[in-house]
Amino acid sequence: MTSDPVPLPSLTADAVVDLERQYLLQNYSRYPLVLHRGKGCHVYDVNGARYLDFIAGIGVNALGHAHPRIVKVIREQAALLIHSSNLYYHQYQGPLAKKLAETSGLERTFFTNSGTEAMEGAMKMIRSHGNKSGTGKHEIISLDNSFHGRTLGALSITGQAKYRQDFEPLPPAVRFVPANNVEALETAFSDSTAGMVLELIQGEGGIYPISPEYQRKARELADRYNALLVFDEIQCGVGRPGTYFAYQRTKPVVMPDVIVAAKPLACGLPLGAIVANEKAAATIGPGMHGSTFGGSALACRVALEFFDILEGLLPSIQQVGGYLHVMLNELARKHSFVKEVRGFGLMIGVEMEIPGKQMVLDAMAEGLLINCTHDTVLRFLPPYIITERDVDTAVKVIGKIFAKQKGSPA
Ligand SMILES: *Cc1c(COP(=O)(O)O)cnc(C)c1O
Repeated sequence: MTSDPVPLPSLTADAVVDLERQYLLQNYSRYPLVLHRGKGCHVYDVNGARYLDFIAGIGVNALGHAHPRIVKVIREQAALLIHSSNLYYHQYQGPLAKKLAETSGLERTFFTNSGTEAMEGAMKMIRSHGNKSGTGKHEIISLDNSFHGRTLGALSITGQAKYRQDFEPLPPAVRFVPANNVEALETAFSDSTAGMVLELIQGEGGIYPISPEYQRKARELADRYNALLVFDEIQCGVGRPGTYFAYQRTKPVVMPDVIVAAKPLACGLPLGAIVANEKAAATIGPGMHGSTFGGSALACRVALEFFDILEGLLPSIQQVGGYLHVMLNELARKHSFVKEVRGFGLMIGVEMEIPGKQMVLDAMAEGLLINCTHDTVLRFLPPYIITERDVDTAVKVIGKIFAKQKGSPA
């Protein structure tokens, strides 16, 4: 089989960086890496250097880069119909919503373009549910250290000051509670509670899993006070934990009323989803919500193809994710500055007593892409198609970097 020649980059790395410095809002502090293309678990920069991609577009590129089946359906669908708006039907929202219902155990879907937009919609469901159910029933309970997105609504339930402080005042009636503290949760719930939002493995917050007891208590209290329970599965869901969704790891399963999903859903095309049970879905009636771009034919068709592939990948996500966890734990035991290895499946964080930023740059120089969240947590969100050999390569790089730190055995 012959493959097409790879087109050369149109700009040098310096030219790209200069243009961005001049013309973009200066909100991102990017790593000094200008990417050109990707294939499988690797990306290549404009100079042709190759990197093993263990961050996958922050958990978005679930099938890595240029997966042949994804490329094929994008080509086909782009030539047929990219977007048609929600004025009309197309062939892919219905089947994809059916797939989401079958895999989640929930019933009805609304499609968005991003995680934040899905979270906004879920918050509208909570407020609408509260308004329909009683006077003054407005409050949303959320966790300290959580992250739910960057819009004003999503920020109002994001429990980290650094994201919020420049944008006050934010929408009111939000109450924050410490994660995994059952007593504090009991105290927080009241007849004013309209809903609770929970990310079962806090991603941005440093890969912190929420305990099964806490999940059960949240469900029990939401039922007692007639509040909607929303799970933010944007980062921890859609295959990454080795199950379709993170809540399915807990036995017996604690069912939410609503989940929001996004990141890996369409393998890099913008697509998010709110998936709700009938009770929560009934809070949004005709005309109450909408989106121009949400659920395009292109994005939905890609997501359907992805689900078709994902089913067969779940065992290997568990297997290779378990292997990554074990190998990182082995490294951790040799280095006293490593505090803990946390996470499930292919969502793993290594918490250290020292900052991780320079280690991320060192890893990049060694051909490995990871990132650092919460200053001291190295975060691994590789594509679902990685092998144990890829893990060996990555862990070797991390080992080499760890060995250079103070507090490591010589
Ligand atoms: C990324 C993320 C969001 C925001 O999603 P966007 O697609 O960036 O809008 C919300 N919640 C969680 C848990 C996330 O990881």
